[in-house]
Amino acid sequence: MKYEAVIGLEVHAQLATKSKLFCPCSTAFGAKPNTNICPVCSGQAGALPVLNKMAVEMAVKSGLALGCTIQEKSIFARKNYFYPDLPKGYQISQYEKPLCLNGHLDIVTDGKLKRVHIQRIHMEEDAGKLLHETGHENFSHVDLNRCSTPLIEIVSGPDLSTPQEAADTYRKLRNILVYLEVCDGNMQEGNLRCDANVSLRPIGAKAFGTRSEIKNVNSFKFLENAIAYEIKRQAEILDGGGKVVQETRLWNQAKQMTTSMRSKEEAHDYRYFPDPDLLPLVVDTLWIEKIKSSLPELPEAKAERFVSDYGLPEQDAQVLTAEKPMAHYFEECIVGFNAPKKIANWIMAELMRELKSRELDITQIKMKPNQLAHMVALIENGTISGAIGKTIFMEMLNSGTDPDKIIEAKGLKQVTDTSTIEIVIDKIIAKETENVQRYKSGKTNVFGFFVGAVMKEMGGKANPKIVNEILRKKLN
Ligand code: ADP
Ligand code: MG
Ligand code: ZN
Repeated sequence: MKYEAVIGLEVHAQLATKSKLFCPCSTAFGAKPNTNICPVCSGQAGALPVLNKMAVEMAVKSGLALGCTIQEKSIFARKNYFYPDLPKGYQISQYEKPLCLNGHLDIVTDGKLKRVHIQRIHMEEDAGKLLHETGHENFSHVDLNRCSTPLIEIVSGPDLSTPQEAADTYRKLRNILVYLEVCDGNMQEGNLRCDANVSLRPIGAKAFGTRSEIKNVNSFKFLENAIAYEIKRQAEILDGGGKVVQETRLWNQAKQMTTSMRSKEEAHDYRYFPDPDLLPLVVDTLWIEKIKSSLPELPEAKAERFVSDYGLPEQDAQVLTAEKPMAHYFEECIVGFNAPKKIANWIMAELMRELKSRELDITQIKMKPNQLAHMVALIENGTISGAIGKTIFMEMLNSGTDPDKIIEAKGLKQVTDTSTIEIVIDKIIAKETENVQRYKSGKTNVFGFFVGAVMKEMGGKANPKIVNEILRKKLN
């Protein structure tokens, strides 16, 4: 391809406040339609907005975590448009003077570090929802519960060049917001939504090409797919001598393509102006400092600490800290049994594989960290073999039963008694005369066969080290 892609993201994150941005109504998801509304959020004439302080704190937290400068004075503006899910006829947002400016986010894609500029973060309220599946062909319903739910919009610079970089940026943003506990990050519930701006330019060119904007992509995979499709679509247009038109497009996952939603000509003129019902938002230095000191440990700092405190390889530290609940689970395991690398291996191989195939996340499983830790300790002190460990692991995962109970109920304890093992070995050597001959004639690779036969006979419970020792002694 002779083009280079230029990609910038606009991410909307719902702030995890209990009440809405300008009224005391609940933000709870899934409530009966139009039960969490009041004169303010349903847009009754003359009702006055009162700003939610917690929402401001959460927005400032996000800005600080993303290295932004918090603006001491920012302005809420009215963004005017008509839509049935917007009873006021305008959305309260921030326009010329947003709360946060000029931050950054570091991503690693294919082992390459890239610093992505964060142009701005502003606060705004969400709109309501239209429900089209009403059972009536000719009607849609309006649910205003979501009206005035607090959002932040995070706008990246046009710094990304591949679909993977865009997905990595979105993923990292989500992780940070979830770490900060300012957003639940649930893309299915629309907690987090991403728009991708995509344009192409000839490789080496400075000027940007015309961009299209893909709206509301709600999974990392879809975002990658949508951008990859869009790059291909624009390249074909340019190759054919055509011009890309500036427009808003929608991703259709079923058809694996983007389709036009509206062109620039149809774009709204929002007639932004400062909302006369709201004072300028003033966040003074003292308040910013207070919020700064309340920031939790973020993924990058945690990963560094996992390397320095637990001696984990960089790669393991990255994987374990990517999501906060997983990092917490790991550290709880370490409290139970201080063998970081051994625990890390079990989590990264067995546990993550099972979570993925069962489509569960770590907070949804029955196996407690101290149970996993205890099982690993039992392997290390020779009570059970690694293979038996895997059996116990699956059982713990399925039922949340303590490893000791599983071992007792299933008789899985490792046999270390040499005379018991010796009897089995003698029996096998007596039976396998041909293989014994082979071994003695120098074909020492049949040794593994003998180990396997003993293990099989003993249901995997024999201590492998002792089996090896006795076998070697008897065969040589
Ligand atoms: P709006 O979408 O409201 O017009 P902006 O013009 O500020 O807002 O741009 C929004 C996003 O588009 C930003 O993430 C920015 O980095 C990105 N962007 C701007 N120009 C381009 C371009 N030519 N190609 C790709 N992305 C772009
Ligand atoms: Mg935009
Ligand atoms: Zn309300």
